Amino acid sequence: MNPVADKPELAEPYMFAWLASLGLGVEYTRSKKDSLYYRDAGGAEIEVLDLVGGYGSTILGHNNPELIEYTKSLLDSDTPIHAQFSRHPYANNLAWTLNTIAHREFDTDENYAVIFANSGAEANEVAIKHAEMDRMLKIGEALAEVEAHIEAAVAAVASGATVDASPLRGSDIDEVVAALRAANAERAATPPVYLAPVGSFHGKLAGTIQLTHNFAYRTPFIAMAAQCRFVPLDQPDVISDAIAAESRTLFDLAVDGDAIRVVERPLPVISAFVLEPIQGEAGIRILDAGAVARLRELLDAADIPVIVDEVQSGMGRSGAFFAASHLGLRGDYITLAKSLGGGIAKAAVTLIRSSRYRADFELVHTSTFAKDSLSTLIALRAVELLEADGGAVYRLAAQRGDKLLAMLRALRDEFGDVVKDVRGKGLMVGLEFHDLSGSASEILAEQARGGLIGYMFSGYLLREHNMRVFPTASATSTLRFEPSVYITDEEITRTEKGLRALITLIRAEDGKTLLG
Ligand code: PMP
Repeated sequence: MNPVADKPELAEPYMFAWLASLGLGVEYTRSKKDSLYYRDAGGAEIEVLDLVGGYGSTILGHNNPELIEYTKSLLDSDTPIHAQFSRHPYANNLAWTLNTIAHREFDTDENYAVIFANSGAEANEVAIKHAEMDRMLKIGEALAEVEAHIEAAVAAVASGATVDASPLRGSDIDEVVAALRAANAERAATPPVYLAPVGSFHGKLAGTIQLTHNFAYRTPFIAMAAQCRFVPLDQPDVISDAIAAESRTLFDLAVDGDAIRVVERPLPVISAFVLEPIQGEAGIRILDAGAVARLRELLDAADIPVIVDEVQSGMGRSGAFFAASHLGLRGDYITLAKSLGGGIAKAAVTLIRSSRYRADFELVHTSTFAKDSLSTLIALRAVELLEADGGAVYRLAAQRGDKLLAMLRALRDEFGDVVKDVRGKGLMVGLEFHDLSGSASEILAEQARGGLIGYMFSGYLLREHNMRVFPTASATSTLRFEPSVYITDEEITRTEKGLRALITLIRAEDGKTLLG
């Protein structure tokens, strides 16, 4: 029975029609390592080389045999999967293992508390929620101090001190205190602001979509949650200006001998700076270590925490477990998802530095599915596989990535008129094409202007070369390459062959063949 033929498509029906129009509406029926398989009209199984790698979730390959065996054993042994609000030593094992890695890669002995989630966007929502809770508690602590100062001022007035109301109004201490409290209540309610580098992608939930720079994804939802200012990382002056533009104060009272003055104290408004060490959906862009070091100084000076989103770059893909370790950037928060689930489960975590951790967060943030034993145990085993043999998988990621990058760079050198740039680290690699919106081919020009040209290239590569390659979400003229660490030399050669054919057609401006 063909479900598409005899039932109208209701599961994201527009998406299916669009994929089908580009030749991408294929149903995969099996997967292994870096291959996905489908059946053609005659029933023959066709192998497709998968360079999308589940958008970064299959660093250990599709259906990794050790993880499959382990998952089966968990199910066969009736492991309790949903036993919320009980003791979960397996979750603590994962937390400890992640901490051990963080200690090693960031050369620190400070621990991170670990909160569990179900997706990358959710792990980032946890981080921004916690940062906001921390900000609100700090404001509460500041207001409590102000109240103590008010009490001291009232006592001082009773003993003959005088009050200078400026810049507030009031002819006696009671009026000054009333004006101060009213102003502070208004100021304390200032909504939080986030900062993030231009191009950032942190998810598509109501909070995280505000941190995702992509105009089309973000703008329909800007009324839903706190806003983000996007800043160019290579311009520290702009970042300082953004921090200055958001700085606000609370009023306080200072007792100075027998004079009482109204003074101002800082009010934290910027909740966090959020970044990806290697930007994924912006077109695979590695942050500059010098720019990150300067950023850290600015943020430390203003006591603004850094949320490092390792959802795509983490789990060994860069050649280290945390891509931020290459930049020497120890996040106050670190988020992981995608490959954390070993390509099988949905798992995500948010690591929060002990020195910033607010224990009350655990009482107000939970999810039915987060920290379930099945996904957490699979995640633990996936991390153990990465750590095995002194980090052999990290070395493999670096070595396979270098090989892939060398092949792509040779293509860029040969076809510089078509290929604009090749970037990446380890197995997070992008190939950017020159803009084709002025192409003599109407098809190419139109697809480029519509911002979807990368998907047309994907359709061609799948149809003609049995290769699965997709563009990055926010920069669609960049193709992403995120295979598993098991990608072979032959598969890299196969990738080259397909890309060479694609580039040759682009150079010939043969939009018709590319569209199929
Ligand atoms: N952060 C980054 C850096 C990502 O690349 C993504 C997904 N592309 C997300 C967050 C969102 O993850 P998810 O799709 O699991 O919500």
